[in-house]
Amino acid sequence: MLLLTSVVYVQEVKNGKQRVEDIAQKIAQDLDNQFAKVAELLRQGAQFNIACDDNTLQTMRTAVFEQPALSEIGMVDEQGRIRCNSFGKLDPVVQSTIPVRLQGLRYYGPIISDYLGTSAFILAMTRSDGIEVNGLIPTSWVNNVIKLPTENHVSYLAIVDTFSGVPIFKFGHYSLPLNYKPYPLLNDTAEYTGKFDDLNSKYWFALRFKAIPELGLTIAVDEIQLFNLKWSSALLSLLGSSAFFIMTLWLLNYLDRRSRNAKLQILDALAQNEFFNVYQPFYDCQSNTIIGAEVLMRWQHPVEGELGPAYFIPEAERDGSILELSIAQIERALVELEALLYDMPSFKLSFNANGYLLMQPSYRQVILWAAQQVPNLTLELTERDVLQGAELQHHLQTLSDAGVEIAIDDFGTGYSGLQYLQQFPIDLLKIDQSFVASIGTKNLQTPVLDAVIEMADKLGKKLIAEGVETSVQQRYLSRQGVNVQQGWLYAKPLRSDLFLDMLSIRLLLK
Ligand code: C2E
Ligand code: CA
Ligand code: CA
Repeated sequence: MLLLTSVVYVQEVKNGKQRVEDIAQKIAQDLDNQFAKVAELLRQGAQFNIACDDNTLQTMRTAVFEQPALSEIGMVDEQGRIRCNSFGKLDPVVQSTIPVRLQGLRYYGPIISDYLGTSAFILAMTRSDGIEVNGLIPTSWVNNVIKLPTENHVSYLAIVDTFSGVPIFKFGHYSLPLNYKPYPLLNDTAEYTGKFDDLNSKYWFALRFKAIPELGLTIAVDEIQLFNLKWSSALLSLLGSSAFFIMTLWLLNYLDRRSRNAKLQILDALAQNEFFNVYQPFYDCQSNTIIGAEVLMRWQHPVEGELGPAYFIPEAERDGSILELSIAQIERALVELEALLYDMPSFKLSFNANGYLLMQPSYRQVILWAAQQVPNLTLELTERDVLQGAELQHHLQTLSDAGVEIAIDDFGTGYSGLQYLQQFPIDLLKIDQSFVASIGTKNLQTPVLDAVIEMADKLGKKLIAEGVETSVQQRYLSRQGVNVQQGWLYAKPLRSDLFLDMLSIRLLLK
């Protein structure tokens, strides 16, 4: 905890310095923008007539009106005489200093404006003809721009000459470091922490204005304030940091456990019998009987409740635990449907598989073992699974030779050509739900559905339509000769007991 406190203290001081710097940057940016606008206005003074005609005076007044930083614009001739300002012509002219022939914006100050009676400074530009156009900026305007929050604990903030460090505007008690010479300011920004001439240790930060590099903004804060300033918030943040720290540890631990143990979690859940099978019937519309079922998986999660395959199959496929899940699923199905299979040996049982599973000897072994008890055993694979290479083709052939039916799931959604249907031992195509859903709608997929049905017929493949939800779909498919159908119209995937109940009721009704 002590370590944590010191870490928080150091962090707070660092944050405190950063906050001071941020304040300075923000204020400087606001001022810089305004200085740049003033510079632009003074540049337009190229059109002012040194005779100070009405037009020139009017333009000056408009400029002052439009630019809040300026309270006055003036014109000084090559001999340094103020000829006029936005209030009017000066008669007699007032002697000022001879304009400095310098590129860009420069300043003088601080001054007390005769007209306004307040402190101010002047930004000036000299035209190519040696005439200076200048603008008076009252310090009250700077105060407005700065808008220092009252609780800021800033020891001072000043606009200074970056060469001499003389302030032309200041807020607070201006002081300088005891053992460090900050001026001339050599870089665009500078910072220092140490004793100042009021004997307090301060953090000092300075930066140069872009629009007028002769001037800079400087801010100093008593070091103690960096922490004191935020003492209450530091305390809060100390508490918060501890909580955050613990939460972070917990979260990292959780995420780590989650990724490292995703497989272990699945396998653990499998050992706890949390996975179960649901069965969705294949309905033969010609004989009005259920001729088989697709076996689907669910997870009865102790916290999350019943989870569909979307929640765990992708993860299980990533970490390989799909192998254990699939083998357990097949074994479970044979146990749950043992009596049914005894009574109806032709009952078709269809399992979802994939390329990875088919490459695993243990999986193929279980399938071959199951096929001995289920003469009508089907494996559903997607096109992508089937097209994984020669080795897979070989395994498919072995399974097919052993009497396992191979079906293409989601048929019609893949983009591969159709030659594979002849190269591979494929018996059955399961028309994807999206085609079935298009029936009865003015959807472009309906003609594709018709083409798929026609082609399957020509190639001698069996067809199953999945996702049949309406009697319109049922009738359409039946008319097209797709008699084996699966979908909510007949039944949703059911737990084994409900599934068996449904089957026996149907048999009784027959
Ligand atoms: P799939 O093999 O295409 O399974 C068909 C999905 O459509 C099932 O969703 C099923 O519940 C749903 N379905 C059936 N009839 C209708 C219907 O009339 N309307 C609509 N809208 N949906 C219907 P489920 O059970 O959520 O399975 C989703 C996918 O998860 C399956 O798609 C399959 O790819 C995978 N999956 C499910 N169980 C297993 C499994 O045991 N092993 C493997 N490897 N994958 C599985
Ligand atoms: Ca399927
Ligand atoms: Ca499907």
